[in-house]
Amino acid sequence: MAGGTKQHADVIPKIVDARKLVQREQVLSGTVPAEALERLLAAVESVDGDVRAELSFSRDLNRHLVVEGGVSCNVQLLCQRCLQPKPETVDAPVRWGIVWSEEQGKSLPRDLDPVIQEGEELNLYQVLEDEILLNLPMVAYHEEECVARDRFQFGDDSQEAEEQRENPFKVLEQLKGSSGKS
Ligand SMILES: [Zn+2]
Repeated sequence: MAGGTKQHADVIPKIVDARKLVQREQVLSGTVPAEALERLLAAVESVDGDVRAELSFSRDLNRHLVVEGGVSCNVQLLCQRCLQPKPETVDAPVRWGIVWSEEQGKSLPRDLDPVIQEGEELNLYQVLEDEILLNLPMVAYHEEECVARDRFQFGDDSQEAEEQRENPFKVLEQLKGSSGKS
């Protein structure tokens, strides 16, 4: 690298010193290996391919250490209707304010999410994984009708049951009618 400040790494480093990256106004652009994100792997059926991230480090006008960018990935979630995998894309914006204590985080402006760096080490994978988990859909359903209607009509059944409760005479009539026929 010949004195440039923009680095396009294939793999985003796991541990960085955000203060140094801010001094260099560095841009990290690349991937995070999915197998490094155990909490994400546990929360979804599978992660398709690697997680992609772009993070740009800078200092804002109020001297806050700011990281802006985004993280995205493709995952498979279980459809809550047919229990088969359904692909989802997670696209999470990043706007962090780097601080060294919770106390410091409280003084950040509201549009910055406080991210605490321990000493000289910030675990980028952990924070990126937090962002993905926060943006993961709670439940997934296929858009198309993935379960045949006759196997999935709780709505109709309960409506019928309600009608019978409301109108006991109708039930009696039906009983009379059927016994009369036999
Ligand atoms: Zn489904």
